[in-house]
Amino acid sequence: MVTLVLSNEDQCEAYTSDEMIPLLRNLSSSFGMFLSREGRTLLWGKPIYWISTETAPESIVLHDTENAHVVEDNSSVIIVLKRLPAEEKDVYVAAHELGHVLLEREGFPIPKRLPGNVSLAFSLYAMLQDPLINVRLSRYGFDAIAHYTSNVHTSLAVLADKTPPFDFLDRLLWCCNIVGIMLDGEYSQAAVIRQQFEESMFGRFPDLVPEITQLYSLVREIGFDTPEQQRKLLQGIAKKYHLYEVPEEA
Ligand SMILES: [Zn+2]
Repeated sequence: MVTLVLSNEDQCEAYTSDEMIPLLRNLSSSFGMFLSREGRTLLWGKPIYWISTETAPESIVLHDTENAHVVEDNSSVIIVLKRLPAEEKDVYVAAHELGHVLLEREGFPIPKRLPGNVSLAFSLYAMLQDPLINVRLSRYGFDAIAHYTSNVHTSLAVLADKTPPFDFLDRLLWCCNIVGIMLDGEYSQAAVIRQQFEESMFGRFPDLVPEITQLYSLVREIGFDTPEQQRKLLQGIAKKYHLYEVPEEA
Protein backbone atom coordinates (compact mmCIF):
# COMPACT_ATOMS: atom_id res chain seq x y z
CA MET A 1 0.00 0.00 0.00
CA VAL A 2 1.03 3.58 -0.51
CA THR A 3 -0.03 6.88 0.99
CA LEU A 4 -1.69 8.78 -1.79
CA VAL A 5 -1.64 12.57 -1.63
CA LEU A 6 -4.46 14.08 -3.66
CA SER A 7 -4.30 17.41 -5.45
CA ASN A 8 -6.40 18.99 -2.67
CA GLU A 9 -3.79 17.66 -0.17
CA ASP A 10 -6.13 15.03 1.27
CA GLN A 11 -4.27 11.84 2.04
CA CYS A 12 -5.34 8.23 2.01
CA GLU A 13 -3.93 4.74 2.04
CA ALA A 14 -4.27 3.14 -1.37
CA TYR A 15 -3.51 -0.15 -3.06
CA THR A 16 -1.43 0.12 -6.20
CA SER A 17 -2.52 -1.70 -9.36
CA ASP A 18 0.63 -3.85 -8.99
CA GLU A 19 -0.95 -5.14 -5.77
CA MET A 20 -4.57 -5.29 -6.91
CA ILE A 21 -4.33 -6.76 -10.41
CA PRO A 22 -2.62 -10.06 -9.43
CA LEU A 23 -5.15 -10.46 -6.61
CA LEU A 24 -8.09 -9.99 -9.00
CA ARG A 25 -6.51 -12.31 -11.57
CA ASN A 26 -6.25 -15.03 -8.91
CA LEU A 27 -9.91 -14.61 -8.03
CA SER A 28 -11.29 -14.92 -11.57
CA SER A 29 -10.18 -16.40 -14.87
CA SER A 30 -12.51 -13.96 -16.68
CA PHE A 31 -10.58 -11.12 -15.09
CA GLY A 32 -7.37 -12.70 -16.40
CA MET A 33 -8.77 -12.82 -19.94
CA PHE A 34 -10.07 -9.27 -19.68
CA LEU A 35 -6.63 -8.06 -18.58
CA SER A 36 -4.72 -9.94 -21.25
CA ARG A 37 -6.81 -8.25 -23.97
CA GLU A 38 -7.39 -4.82 -22.47
CA GLY A 39 -4.44 -4.45 -20.09
CA ARG A 40 -2.28 -2.59 -22.53
CA THR A 41 -4.73 0.31 -22.75
CA LEU A 42 -4.98 0.37 -18.96
CA LEU A 43 -1.21 0.80 -18.69
CA TRP A 44 -1.36 4.09 -20.59
CA GLY A 45 -1.58 7.37 -18.82
CA LYS A 46 -1.98 8.06 -15.15
CA PRO A 47 -1.39 5.24 -12.64
CA ILE A 48 -4.52 3.60 -11.21
CA TYR A 49 -4.90 3.36 -7.42
CA TRP A 50 -7.55 1.55 -5.41
CA ILE A 51 -9.17 2.69 -2.19
CA SER A 52 -12.23 1.60 -0.21
CA THR A 53 -15.23 3.77 0.60
CA GLU A 54 -14.40 3.28 4.29
CA THR A 55 -10.96 4.88 4.10
CA ALA A 56 -11.58 7.29 1.20
CA PRO A 57 -11.41 11.01 2.03
CA GLU A 58 -14.81 12.71 1.87
CA SER A 59 -13.69 14.76 -1.11
CA ILE A 60 -13.72 11.75 -3.42
CA VAL A 61 -16.66 9.70 -2.16
CA LEU A 62 -19.95 10.23 -3.92
CA HIS A 63 -22.36 10.90 -1.08
CA ASP A 64 -25.51 10.02 -2.92
CA THR A 65 -24.41 6.58 -4.01
CA GLU A 66 -22.79 3.61 -2.39
CA ASN A 67 -21.70 2.44 -5.79
CA ALA A 68 -18.11 1.94 -6.72
CA HIS A 69 -16.80 4.68 -8.95
CA VAL A 70 -13.77 6.18 -10.64
CA VAL A 71 -12.26 9.52 -9.65
CA GLU A 72 -9.75 11.41 -11.77
CA ASP A 73 -7.16 13.34 -9.81
CA ASN A 74 -4.39 15.46 -11.32
CA SER A 75 -1.78 12.75 -11.34
CA SER A 76 -3.73 9.56 -10.77
CA VAL A 77 -6.93 7.66 -11.39
CA ILE A 78 -8.58 6.31 -8.24
CA ILE A 79 -11.03 3.45 -8.19
CA VAL A 80 -13.21 3.49 -5.08
CA LEU A 81 -14.58 0.06 -4.10
CA LYS A 82 -16.84 -0.88 -1.20
CA ARG A 83 -14.18 -3.00 0.49
CA LEU A 84 -10.54 -3.81 0.09
CA PRO A 85 -8.79 -6.13 -0.35
CA ALA A 86 -11.30 -7.29 -2.92
CA GLU A 87 -13.09 -10.61 -2.55
CA GLU A 88 -14.46 -12.87 -5.26
CA LYS A 89 -17.83 -11.11 -5.24
CA ASP A 90 -16.06 -7.79 -5.92
CA VAL A 91 -14.27 -8.86 -9.09
CA TYR A 92 -17.10 -7.92 -11.46
CA VAL A 93 -17.34 -4.42 -10.00
CA ALA A 94 -13.55 -4.01 -10.10
CA ALA A 95 -13.50 -5.02 -13.79
CA HIS A 96 -16.48 -2.76 -14.46
CA GLU A 97 -14.72 0.26 -12.94
CA LEU A 98 -11.60 -0.52 -14.99
CA GLY A 99 -13.99 -0.54 -17.97
CA HIS A 100 -14.80 3.13 -17.25
CA VAL A 101 -11.06 3.90 -17.26
CA LEU A 102 -10.71 2.02 -20.55
CA LEU A 103 -13.55 3.91 -22.24
CA GLU A 104 -12.10 7.22 -21.15
CA ARG A 105 -8.72 6.24 -22.57
CA GLU A 106 -10.46 5.25 -25.80
CA GLY A 107 -11.80 8.80 -26.07
CA PHE A 108 -15.32 8.50 -24.67
CA PRO A 109 -16.40 11.83 -23.15
CA ILE A 110 -17.05 12.54 -19.49
CA PRO A 111 -20.23 14.61 -19.00
CA LYS A 112 -19.53 17.90 -17.23
CA ARG A 113 -20.99 18.52 -13.80
CA LEU A 114 -23.88 20.95 -13.77
CA PRO A 115 -23.68 23.50 -10.96
CA GLY A 116 -27.39 23.01 -10.23
CA ASN A 117 -27.23 19.22 -10.00
CA VAL A 118 -23.91 17.49 -9.41
CA SER A 119 -25.38 13.99 -9.60
CA LEU A 120 -26.85 14.35 -13.10
CA ALA A 121 -23.43 14.10 -14.80
CA PHE A 122 -22.79 10.83 -12.97
CA SER A 123 -26.15 9.43 -14.10
CA LEU A 124 -25.52 10.42 -17.72
CA TYR A 125 -22.07 8.85 -17.54
CA ALA A 126 -23.46 5.58 -16.12
CA MET A 127 -26.38 5.53 -18.59
CA LEU A 128 -24.03 5.78 -21.58
CA GLN A 129 -21.02 3.77 -20.39
CA ASP A 130 -22.44 0.92 -18.28
CA PRO A 131 -24.13 -0.97 -21.16
CA LEU A 132 -20.94 -0.79 -23.25
CA ILE A 133 -18.78 -2.00 -20.37
CA ASN A 134 -21.08 -4.83 -19.33
CA VAL A 135 -21.43 -6.24 -22.83
CA ARG A 136 -17.66 -6.08 -23.22
CA LEU A 137 -17.13 -7.93 -19.93
CA SER A 138 -19.55 -10.65 -21.02
CA ARG A 139 -17.19 -11.42 -23.92
CA TYR A 140 -14.54 -12.44 -21.38
CA GLY A 141 -16.87 -14.84 -19.63
CA PHE A 142 -18.24 -12.54 -16.94
CA ASP A 143 -21.89 -13.24 -16.18
CA ALA A 144 -23.43 -9.96 -17.33
CA ILE A 145 -26.98 -11.32 -17.02
CA ALA A 146 -26.50 -12.24 -13.34
CA HIS A 147 -24.99 -8.83 -12.68
CA TYR A 148 -27.86 -7.15 -14.52
CA THR A 149 -30.50 -9.17 -12.66
CA SER A 150 -29.05 -8.21 -9.30
CA ASN A 151 -28.78 -4.57 -10.40
CA VAL A 152 -32.48 -4.55 -11.41
CA HIS A 153 -33.54 -6.10 -8.09
CA THR A 154 -31.52 -3.52 -6.15
CA SER A 155 -33.00 -0.66 -8.19
CA LEU A 156 -36.57 -1.94 -7.77
CA ALA A 157 -36.01 -2.23 -4.01
CA VAL A 158 -34.53 1.28 -3.79
CA LEU A 159 -37.44 2.74 -5.79
CA ALA A 160 -40.13 0.74 -3.95
CA ASP A 161 -41.27 3.54 -1.65
CA LYS A 162 -40.16 6.51 -3.74
CA THR A 163 -42.19 8.95 -5.79
CA PRO A 164 -40.74 10.90 -8.73
CA PRO A 165 -39.32 14.32 -7.80
CA PHE A 166 -40.78 17.61 -9.06
CA ASP A 167 -37.52 19.35 -9.88
CA PHE A 168 -36.83 19.25 -13.61
CA LEU A 169 -33.17 18.18 -13.32
CA ASP A 170 -33.98 15.58 -10.66
CA ARG A 171 -36.64 14.13 -12.95
CA LEU A 172 -34.12 14.00 -15.79
CA LEU A 173 -31.71 12.21 -13.44
CA TRP A 174 -34.40 9.63 -12.64
CA CYS A 175 -35.02 9.16 -16.37
CA CYS A 176 -31.26 8.70 -17.00
CA ASN A 177 -31.08 6.02 -14.31
CA ILE A 178 -34.15 4.19 -15.66
CA VAL A 179 -33.15 4.48 -19.34
CA GLY A 180 -29.63 3.34 -18.38
CA ILE A 181 -31.02 0.15 -16.86
CA MET A 182 -33.22 -0.43 -19.93
CA LEU A 183 -30.23 -0.04 -22.27
CA ASP A 184 -28.02 -2.19 -20.06
CA GLY A 185 -30.60 -4.99 -20.30
CA GLU A 186 -30.65 -4.75 -24.07
CA TYR A 187 -26.86 -4.79 -24.40
CA SER A 188 -26.52 -7.62 -21.85
CA GLN A 189 -29.24 -9.55 -23.73
CA ALA A 190 -31.26 -9.96 -20.56
CA ALA A 191 -34.58 -9.47 -22.38
CA VAL A 192 -36.90 -11.02 -19.80
CA ILE A 193 -35.68 -9.14 -16.74
CA ARG A 194 -35.33 -5.95 -18.78
CA GLN A 195 -39.00 -6.28 -19.78
CA GLN A 196 -40.00 -6.84 -16.14
CA PHE A 197 -38.07 -3.75 -15.14
CA GLU A 198 -39.74 -1.60 -17.79
CA GLU A 199 -43.22 -2.87 -16.92
CA SER A 200 -42.58 -2.23 -13.25
CA MET A 201 -41.29 1.32 -13.87
CA PHE A 202 -44.06 2.23 -16.31
CA GLY A 203 -46.67 0.79 -13.93
CA ARG A 204 -45.36 2.56 -10.84
CA PHE A 205 -44.53 5.92 -12.35
CA PRO A 206 -47.05 6.49 -15.17
CA ASP A 207 -46.57 10.29 -15.13
CA LEU A 208 -42.87 9.78 -15.86
CA VAL A 209 -43.43 7.54 -18.90
CA PRO A 210 -43.48 10.33 -21.56
CA GLU A 211 -40.18 11.71 -20.20
CA ILE A 212 -38.56 8.26 -20.06
CA THR A 213 -39.73 7.48 -23.59
CA GLN A 214 -38.49 10.82 -24.91
CA LEU A 215 -35.00 10.36 -23.47
CA TYR A 216 -34.86 6.73 -24.58
CA SER A 217 -35.81 7.71 -28.16
CA LEU A 218 -33.16 10.45 -28.29
CA VAL A 219 -30.45 8.05 -27.06
CA ARG A 220 -31.50 5.40 -29.58
CA GLU A 221 -31.80 7.90 -32.43
CA ILE A 222 -28.27 9.30 -32.04
CA GLY A 223 -26.67 6.14 -30.59
CA PHE A 224 -23.91 5.85 -28.01
CA ASP A 225 -21.58 3.09 -29.23
CA THR A 226 -18.69 5.36 -30.22
CA PRO A 227 -17.03 8.42 -28.65
CA GLU A 228 -18.34 10.54 -31.54
CA GLN A 229 -21.92 9.37 -31.03
CA GLN A 230 -21.67 10.00 -27.29
CA ARG A 231 -20.32 13.50 -27.83
CA LYS A 232 -23.15 14.25 -30.26
CA LEU A 233 -25.69 12.70 -27.91
CA LEU A 234 -24.48 14.68 -24.88
CA GLN A 235 -24.73 17.84 -26.96
CA GLY A 236 -28.21 16.78 -28.07
CA ILE A 237 -29.28 16.17 -24.46
CA ALA A 238 -27.77 19.50 -23.33
CA LYS A 239 -29.72 21.27 -26.09
CA LYS A 240 -32.99 19.43 -25.63
CA TYR A 241 -33.05 19.91 -21.87
CA HIS A 242 -31.44 23.35 -21.97
CA LEU A 243 -28.55 22.27 -19.79
CA TYR A 244 -26.29 24.82 -21.50
CA GLU A 245 -23.47 22.40 -21.15
CA VAL A 246 -21.46 20.47 -23.69
CA PRO A 247 -19.20 17.53 -22.92
CA GLU A 248 -15.49 18.12 -22.53
CA GLU A 249 -13.46 17.45 -25.63
CA ALA A 250 -11.42 14.30 -25.05
ZN1 LIG B 1 -20.47 2.02 -14.23
